[in-house]
Amino acid sequence: MKRVRIRLRGIVQGVGFRPFVHNLAENLGLAGYVLNSSAGLVAEVEGHPAVLARFVEAVRAEAPPLAWIQEMEVAELEPLGDTAFEIRPSAAETGEFALISPDVATCPDCLRDCAEPGNRRFGYPFTNCTNCGPRYTIICDIPYDRANTTMAAFRMCAACQAEYDDPANRRFHAQPNACPVCGPALGGAGGARLPGEAVLARDGRAGGTACPTHAEAPARLAGTGELELLAEARARLAAGEILAIKGLGGFHLACDARNREAVEQLRARKRRSDKPFALMVRNLAAVEAMCEVSEADRAALLGWRRPIVILPRRDAHGLPQAIAPGNRTLGVMLPYTPLHQLLFAGAPYDALVMTSGNLSEEPIVVSNQEARERIGGVAAWFLTHNRDIYMRTDDSVVRTFEGRERVLRRSRGYAPQTLDLGRTVPELLACGGELKNVFCLTKGRHAILSQHIGDLENYETLLFFEETLANLKKLFRVEPRAVAHDLHPLYLSTRYALELAGLPKIGVQHHHAHIASCMAENGLGGEVIGVAFDGTGYGPDGAIWGGEFLVAGYARCERRAHLRYVPLAGGDAAVREPWRAALGYLTDTFGAAVPFHAAPEERVRVVRRMIATGLNTVRTSSCGRLFDAVASLMGLRQQVNFEGQAAIELEAIAEDGNLDRYPYGIDGTGPWEVDFRPAIEQIVREVSTGRARAAMAAKFHNTLAHATVEVCRRIAQEAALRRVCLSGGTFQNVRLLGAVAGGLRASGLEVFLHAHVPPNDGGIALGQAAIAAESLDINVS
Ligand SMILES: [Zn+2]
Ligand SMILES: [Zn+2]
Ligand SMILES: [Zn+2]
Repeated sequence: MKRVRIRLRGIVQGVGFRPFVHNLAENLGLAGYVLNSSAGLVAEVEGHPAVLARFVEAVRAEAPPLAWIQEMEVAELEPLGDTAFEIRPSAAETGEFALISPDVATCPDCLRDCAEPGNRRFGYPFTNCTNCGPRYTIICDIPYDRANTTMAAFRMCAACQAEYDDPANRRFHAQPNACPVCGPALGGAGGARLPGEAVLARDGRAGGTACPTHAEAPARLAGTGELELLAEARARLAAGEILAIKGLGGFHLACDARNREAVEQLRARKRRSDKPFALMVRNLAAVEAMCEVSEADRAALLGWRRPIVILPRRDAHGLPQAIAPGNRTLGVMLPYTPLHQLLFAGAPYDALVMTSGNLSEEPIVVSNQEARERIGGVAAWFLTHNRDIYMRTDDSVVRTFEGRERVLRRSRGYAPQTLDLGRTVPELLACGGELKNVFCLTKGRHAILSQHIGDLENYETLLFFEETLANLKKLFRVEPRAVAHDLHPLYLSTRYALELAGLPKIGVQHHHAHIASCMAENGLGGEVIGVAFDGTGYGPDGAIWGGEFLVAGYARCERRAHLRYVPLAGGDAAVREPWRAALGYLTDTFGAAVPFHAAPEERVRVVRRMIATGLNTVRTSSCGRLFDAVASLMGLRQQVNFEGQAAIELEAIAEDGNLDRYPYGIDGTGPWEVDFRPAIEQIVREVSTGRARAAMAAKFHNTLAHATVEVCRRIAQEAALRRVCLSGGTFQNVRLLGAVAGGLRASGLEVFLHAHVPPNDGGIALGQAAIAAESLDINVS
């Protein structure tokens, strides 16, 4: 007889690991125990050495599908003479932490339970099991037990408890286990007060709870009227009403996607003029009728993370233009909770607009009261429920490129899964940027990225940043030793970092962070050529950078080339009004007297004067502003309603198959200046002769790609480097990305792209953390 102890780290809680170990031990006739600890999972088994070896091998090889074993430690012990195998209560270990699973889309077995008449969960919107259901959004603390979730307020009925206690059952220790008798309930209302808005759970089923949840009492018993409420929701949606629907990570605003009037009304009420709306579509076949779906897209759509996938739309998609004006793509997701599935059951529509329940740019709302107060004016009716959402998370957004999923917004289904930094680093906080903020904590080898926080431009978003930071510090037991931040002094994230008392501060240049982020997620060390193209990043010379060619590692960064500086007048207004960038480029190309009619004469005169005197004018190498300028000169867009709009439209209209390009220059001794004045000159000439925009847009993309590859080739030669990292929001443009990556490979260079973190500013916190970790190493040694 022998005894072994196995310690597992990784995603091993909330994924059916204990039942798996229990069944395995019983099948092999081994005695001992298994438990969740705050560090992960611990099992001790005793029996014949050969059988123990089989057990250890099976734990490694046959782990449940959602589990991820990061570390497995096996130790031999003296046998204790155990005779049975048991699952023991969770043990908390101070300072230890376990990885927390992201939320998981409903599994096929649970969908069957919901759809099967006679099943006790028929039509029950909160059905889940160990293979699926809410996780991060309901977890208040570790270890992951029901008492530490917002399900603590619901006491399981005898039938659910029996499932929970039965190791052979798929719901064995499924913490959010629920049924119509004992679990959360739907509520529906259009009035001033929502059902379930009471402050604390007061009904008989509410158990004591250690977590600071504000579970709301259901207005009626769960299960009564569930089907009627769903039928009413479907009827209202079919009739063109806008509904607020409480989901997994927050409320959605929903309407029938084919109803043009409803979609336009939603735009108006949500104060969102052009930004594309996401769709939730009944099933894959319905998606394929609207969009072109590749093999990789299909995998992303159907996978358990269920993100919004950006897909090329078909011409005959039959949807109103108002869903995604000026786009050739649609953002589509499949239903990911039973509630969503039930909204489509027997409904006349195949697609719903499902946009975050918020007013423009505010965080997604999560509580029933918040919903009434903040989006009460948008929705005609609320379909809500009384399971609290502890952590708000938006839907994630991905796009596939070269057969691989690339995350553009990392939130539900992804957070808080960690990334491996490749080595143990000190505990750090990296505050991220301003737009699309995401922050990063580190612990051991883990980079813990927050879910998408949003644009840190208002008080509500800053509160969301703070509540999420407090939660992740608690869940992962992180006490940062230093804080990293962007160099921009006015970013709220920078100011937050600088106000933290007693911690060393590490400022990181914006584009250095972009490249380090790409290196970190690809596990690269040493130095690389980094191309960072985006809209805005603070440069140490006081200019706005954004068209940058770097030679960078974590410890060092050198600017080797950049887009030629042009004058940009008007601060924030220059970002909203592409014609200002156009005037900057024109002035730089032709001089101050150039004729310009893209904006009212008086405003043009003011901007000309600002450029001439330098008043409220900065110099910029921003690639985003170059796109703006070209879009404006072509007459495509003079004003944008969201970041990157002009660039997206320029990409959308570019014709395929056009290989022409404009002239450009690479000048200077160092850093080189990439000069687009020859291209601007020719674009102006082509516009005056009435050349088609589709051709000009294609030529512009070709030119930028060609220049990018050429500069990289030269740096590669001079610096003897052959790895190139592409990062920055501009590389969300897949036409540009494809042309640049292809050109670099054809030149014998090796290309590294983002996949796990966004290329946009949602990824820079990872780079900040990697750079800060390196700088602490240097300062210590
Ligand atoms: Zn399930
Ligand atoms: Zn029950
Ligand atoms: Zn950026």
